[in-house]
Amino acid sequence: MTARRPLIAGNWKMNGLRADGLALAGELAKRMKAKGKAPFEMLVCPPATLIREVAQTVAGSGVLVGGEDCHAKASGAHTGDISAAMLADAGCTHVIVGHSERRTDHGESDATVKAKAAAALGNGLVAVVCIGETEAERDAGKTLEVNARQVAGSVPDGATAANLVIAYEPVWAIGTGRTPTAPEVQEVHAFIRKELAAKIGAAEAAGVRILYGGSMKPGNAKELLALADVDGGLIGGASLVADDFWAIAQSCP
Ligand code: PEP
Repeated sequence: MTARRPLIAGNWKMNGLRADGLALAGELAKRMKAKGKAPFEMLVCPPATLIREVAQTVAGSGVLVGGEDCHAKASGAHTGDISAAMLADAGCTHVIVGHSERRTDHGESDATVKAKAAAALGNGLVAVVCIGETEAERDAGKTLEVNARQVAGSVPDGATAANLVIAYEPVWAIGTGRTPTAPEVQEVHAFIRKELAAKIGAAEAAGVRILYGGSMKPGNAKELLALADVDGGLIGGASLVADDFWAIAQSCP
């Protein structure tokens, strides 16, 4: 089996003023430095206002920094948006695209997400492409169909094991304290890898990290991260508490 180094990624969303964000980043950087060679990669995705200083705070620690979104275009009249090049310039190595909150709050389609992911790749960033079914879709037995459609529609041309991460985030599990069962998570992750293989080839798909996201906590992380096709987590709420985020990272097999 292709060795995939787990990625533990924190999505801070619209949380954190300067003092809190830098304290959190500093604490994580301190722990990563003390750990030395960690068996996992750690990524934090702060609000745009904090990216530059968080990147400076974690420099040299091994903690990576990512954006929460980017625009598909390189520049221009897009008030309030941020380009992939701007994120890279501010110190990012990664960017989340297609989070369900973007898909819902901003009406982002698979085509939009694909264009954003392409912009990320074009600027040397790793695209963390989020997919996942709603509760109604799961109840209707459409989980695999929806995730297949999102993989097909959201993954850009030129995606490889090195520049693509998929985050499977059942929408109904985000911020709710609910998660699918471990066998359900493994079933969807294995299915996503199969769909990815059809799109980018089996060899690349075997190396792509597929993260689970949706109410991952210190109490359930060990079971989820032990699953064969789960290669880390995209963590919202628990990523805002250094002890919780660190405990999740420590749960990597
Ligand atoms: C998320 O928003 O990506 C997420 C997984 O949130 P939470 O961990 O809070 O469910």
